[in-house]
Amino acid sequence: MLGQSCRVLQGEGTDPRAIEQIRSRLRRFKEVQTVIRNYKKDGTPFWNDLYIAPVKDAQGVVTHFIGVQNDISDRKKQEERIAWHANHDSLTELPNRALLADRLDQALRFVRRYHLQLTVMFIDLDGFKPINDTLGHSVGDKVLKVVAQRLSQSLRDGDTLARFGGDEFVIVLPNAGNVDEVNSIAERLLVNLSEPYEIDGKALTLTASIGIAQGNEDIKDPNMLVQQADMAMYKAKRRGHHNFEWFSHDINKKVERHVVVRHEIQEAMANGEFRLVYQPIFNAQRQIVSVEALLRWHHPVQGEVSPAEFIPIAEHTGQIIPLGRWVIEQVCRDIGRFRQLGIEKVSVNLSPIQLSRSRFVENLEQILEQYQVSPAQLMLEITENVLVNELTHAPELLQTLHDKGFTIALDDFGSGYSSLRYLHELPIDVVKIDRVFTSHIGGQQGKDSIVRAMLAIAAELDMNVIAEGIETAEQLEFLQDKHCTGYQGFYLGRPIAIEQFVHLIGAQQ
Ligand code: C2E
Ligand code: MG
Ligand code: MG
Repeated sequence: MLGQSCRVLQGEGTDPRAIEQIRSRLRRFKEVQTVIRNYKKDGTPFWNDLYIAPVKDAQGVVTHFIGVQNDISDRKKQEERIAWHANHDSLTELPNRALLADRLDQALRFVRRYHLQLTVMFIDLDGFKPINDTLGHSVGDKVLKVVAQRLSQSLRDGDTLARFGGDEFVIVLPNAGNVDEVNSIAERLLVNLSEPYEIDGKALTLTASIGIAQGNEDIKDPNMLVQQADMAMYKAKRRGHHNFEWFSHDINKKVERHVVVRHEIQEAMANGEFRLVYQPIFNAQRQIVSVEALLRWHHPVQGEVSPAEFIPIAEHTGQIIPLGRWVIEQVCRDIGRFRQLGIEKVSVNLSPIQLSRSRFVENLEQILEQYQVSPAQLMLEITENVLVNELTHAPELLQTLHDKGFTIALDDFGSGYSSLRYLHELPIDVVKIDRVFTSHIGGQQGKDSIVRAMLAIAAELDMNVIAEGIETAEQLEFLQDKHCTGYQGFYLGRPIAIEQFVHLIGAQQ
């Protein structure tokens, strides 16, 4: 560099504004500190941290300048990496939630300028968790990378694909066009994602559920579209996976209702608005052999709220845990009075959420101990959901409960994805035929064939069968004729308060 001006370090990537700043300060004999892009002799660029200071003589006149230069390219690279990581997901290299928020704002500005529709898709993989759990995280990571690639291949310039979390992705389409076009994009994504994945020489299959929300230039907060798409995605999942679903305002209403009900359940627990009613279960000789405890909520304003409505919400919010505990305790308090009436067993409905609690068995035993109730006095009703998706250790759990002497009943049998395998492999003592099937008895020809088949299978496997929802004499007769073991339904007895039982049976005795 001897004898040369620093200007030889400049090149086409050097910011002219930085040069101008240096010159103007030097003209005024001021010091300069800046970072500019300079070039080495071989043409490779570097970041130069430049400091130039004037040197004055005894009279205070500037005689020359001293400059110190530092190549800080490494530090710059580091900073860029940090900035990149703040905005990207390192596994898939896609924008993360932070950058997604920026892109949404950008997209909204674009949509406003050109009067377009802003479309957001929320994508969640179906069955990713089991892959991660059984094949390990490294396989899970590889799957996610391929998913990211497949998704980005289906998009156009100007669309944003971001990883929202775990196995969730969000796509922002600022110019997707009408509903038909968006539908065909969603179809294409579903098809692409369902192609087999070849990971470490193994072929895996995977599907996804997609929720879609769309808004025009009037939207205030584009994040709302993400939330709406998320809700719609849940609806797609409930409809049975590998689906897409549009957000509709009905879903929104439902969610608002959730928020209200959550609050009200809290109040109701504090104010004692819950109570139990019991529905009798008979044997073939029309004797009451047990009763099923059913939860009732008397809302101060709305009156009776159906458990079919509030139990799913309580499950969603986790409130089913204290509520379910209260049910078991109340049953234990009532069980002695039933015993005096000659009824030895009470049936309790359990939510999958309760069962998935790690200390479920210990807590249950502790309550029983407190009220001096034995497991033989309780029938635990579980639904097929417990077996299908909620609980991986369901077989062991049921075996433990069975070994301790509880009676295990499979509730609503036939209403979900019943598998005969469960009946065969799990310690199920009683199958409760869902009332949908009971209602088919006496109707159209052939519609009762499922009930016939269930009764035949149960007899073969040496299981008891309780038919739910018997509403007519004809249904009762049909079931008696097929040697059903238990009978429950409005025709025989509605759910009533325990006091009414005492009254009713007391009068007969
Ligand atoms: P489930 O366990 O299958 O209970 C039977 C439901 O069928 C009850 O509705 C009962 O009143 C109704 N039912 C009985 N016989 C007839 C009939 O002949 N015709 C008709 N149409 N219906 C009949 P309910 O009490 O509204 O309960 C609905 C569901 O809520 C229950 O279905 C159960 O899954 C859940 N549930 C109720 N109490 C509890 C509870 O304490 N804990 C949990 N986790 N779930 C509960
Ligand atoms: Mg039940
Ligand atoms: Mg049932």
